[in-house]
This record gives sequence, C-alpha cells and structure tokens, in this order.
Amino acid sequence: MNIDETAFKILISRAAGEARQGLEHQGGANSPVVKLADVLLERAIERRASDLHLEPQTDFLRVRYRIDGLLQIEDNVLPKEVESILIARLKVMAGMDTAKHQCPQDGHIEFASEGRQIDIRVSVLPAIHGELMVLRFMNVEEKILNLGELGFSDKNMELFRGIIEKPSGLVILSGPVNSGKTTSLYAALQALNKPESNLVTLENPVERVVPGINQVEINPKSGLNYMAGLKALLRQDITAVMVGEIRDGEVASYIVRIALTGHLIMTTLHTENAVGVIFRLREMNIPPYMIAATLTGAVAQRLVRKSCPHCQEEYEPAANSAEAQMLGERWHRGLHLKRNTGCPHCRGTGYSGRLALQEVLVISPAVREAILMSADRDRLQALAEREGLRTLWQDGVDKVLDGKTTLSELKRVI
Ligand SMILES: [Zn+2]
Repeated sequence: MNIDETAFKILISRAAGEARQGLEHQGGANSPVVKLADVLLERAIERRASDLHLEPQTDFLRVRYRIDGLLQIEDNVLPKEVESILIARLKVMAGMDTAKHQCPQDGHIEFASEGRQIDIRVSVLPAIHGELMVLRFMNVEEKILNLGELGFSDKNMELFRGIIEKPSGLVILSGPVNSGKTTSLYAALQALNKPESNLVTLENPVERVVPGINQVEINPKSGLNYMAGLKALLRQDITAVMVGEIRDGEVASYIVRIALTGHLIMTTLHTENAVGVIFRLREMNIPPYMIAATLTGAVAQRLVRKSCPHCQEEYEPAANSAEAQMLGERWHRGLHLKRNTGCPHCRGTGYSGRLALQEVLVISPAVREAILMSADRDRLQALAEREGLRTLWQDGVDKVLDGKTTLSELKRVI
C-alpha cells in the first residue's frame, strides 16, 4: 500500500475525528484507524526499519523509526486524539488485552506486506503520558547474507575462513547487542553447509530461518534451556553447533568440553574487542589451559552506517583538521576523503544501509603460548597485533579511506 503525504494527513485527521466521536469500536476494515495502523507498519517495512516506536507525549503522539541502527524522528507527529485508538488497534492485532492499561504486555503480529509475512514483536509499557509501544520487525531484510556480503576485508575474510573451516574448536563472535553477530554466524554456517554435514543451532529466539540447518529454539518453560540442549546435542551426531550466546560459566564450561571432543562450536559473547574474549572466558572460570586447547579464533564486530553512494563529494582534510588528527599517521598531504551532502535516496542523512567492521584474532602458536602463560591483556593485545590482527579502528579507517563510511561514524561506534 503506497500512500502519499496528503492522503496520510487526511487519514490521520479522519482517525482523530473518529476518536473524538468515540467510534473506535465500530470501524471495520475500512475504518481510518485500521488503515492508519497498516500504513504505519507499511512505512516501517518500506524504510527497512528494525523498530517502530509510538511514544505518548503531553499533547501529541511521537512516532519514531529505527533505521540503520539509529532512531529517526518522523515528520508526522500524530494528534493526541489518535493515540488511544491507534494503540488499541495495534494491541488487537498483537493479541493483547485492550482493557489493560496499567501493566506491561508482550504480543506478536504476523503482518502481510507485498506477499511477504513479516513477523513483528510488540511490547507495551505504561508511562506517565500513556502507553509506550515498541514494535520490532524481525525479518525485514529477507535475504540471509553469505560470507562475501558481510563486509570483511580480503585479509580478514581469509583469516575468518581459516578458523571456521577447521573441523573442531571454539570460534567466538563478540560485540554489543545489534552488532550483526548472529548474521555473521548464520553466514558462517551457510558456508559450511554441505549435504554430508549436520549443522545445528541453539537459539533464544530463532532470529531467522536458515535453509538446510537444524535450528532449535530454547524454551526454558518446557525444560529446554541451553544446558539441556547442549547435552542432547552430543547424542545427535553433529558436525558443528552454533549457540546463540554464552549466558553463564556452566554453559561456557560445557561448550569448551564439546569443542574438546572434536566438534566445531560457534557462539557469541559481549566483549569490547577480540582479545577480550580470552579474558571473558577466564572470568567464567575456564582455566587458561582449556582456553588454549579449544579456542581457535575470536572476531569482534561492530556495525556502522554506510555512506550513501548518491550524494558523495570529495574533499581534502587540512593538516590541523579533526579528521587529520583522527587519522594519525594515515593522513598525508593530498589525501582525499569523501563526505555526503544528503539527498532524497538517504532521506538527507548521508547514510544508507549498514556495514560491518571486524577484527579477527587467530589463535596462533605464539598467542596460544601466551594464553597458557596467563599473559595480561596488554601483552596479549600487542602480541596479537604483531601476529597480524588489525583492530576494529584500523579496519574502520581502511573503510573510510575507501569511501564506504565516515570518520564521524567510526567515532560514534568505536
Ligand atoms: Zn544520499
């Protein structure tokens, strides 16, 4: 459903009129509020938003979309009159109790958009000016990326392939929430997916359905927690396992044991960089000799916004500019960078889509030796860099010099 701005405004005022007359329960499929809810969802999908926020303020309803990882304010704030009927309509769609306004609720909408089923998770939380509603769009980017589409530099790709193609060992992806860790692990699984292999995932929840891979959703209510799932996997004749995340020391020690028995196991952790993975495992009481025996590699990842290709212009940062300072020794006279002026393609933001930055730590014999000797963080970091690790910042600068993103974006994320 494509709807222009004027039609949208008419729809809003008709919905507000309906609300003023208290007609919200009489409208069928053609009622303005039913259409308004659909239009807001359609717009979110069209803009590849990951979330839609409806936030009651004192005298209006604020609408914001999260696009490419950042919340953007929509031009249309909705009139206060629309608020309760719109939230009520979305609650009905999400299977929530519309009579309850004082407690948080969770729900779920299956929304059909241009022949696709979009899975939307909905949450409401009572706030002082009304109910806050956040809708998360689970599968807007329907395509599952392959390894080549993850944005690895050629060198990092070679290193990453090297660690996932080993028949056994522990591979850990680290980064904050929404840094694309699961996307990278799905891509890795797909690269390993051959008819003779049995690839299984344990996830909470299953984020995307990947063809050819056996995905298991954690469900603690029915007794299927990570520990139970891992124990059962050992009797499932597996080739490789992906575990959504390591929650505690017990799971961590079991994962290490599986890796030790000759399986490839991939999982995620929250650490600030790749070397940090070693120290996080130690904090989870995994002894250094076990880490040294099983860990084959760690990848830290961040997502930055990609520069819009339609409105780039070249410029030359001066020697004393902030850019030159950030670039350090990578700056030289005559160096050209690209910046964005903003255009309709990127809705004036200068950015469109996202790009991953990575740092890949390969556990080389020297790094393994240092882990065994319980080397401290600084020593391990220095050693890893000598052994070829490029930091997230260095990978980011490479991508800035290629015109794929900008220094201000790097500074925001790292
Ligand atoms: Zn643009």
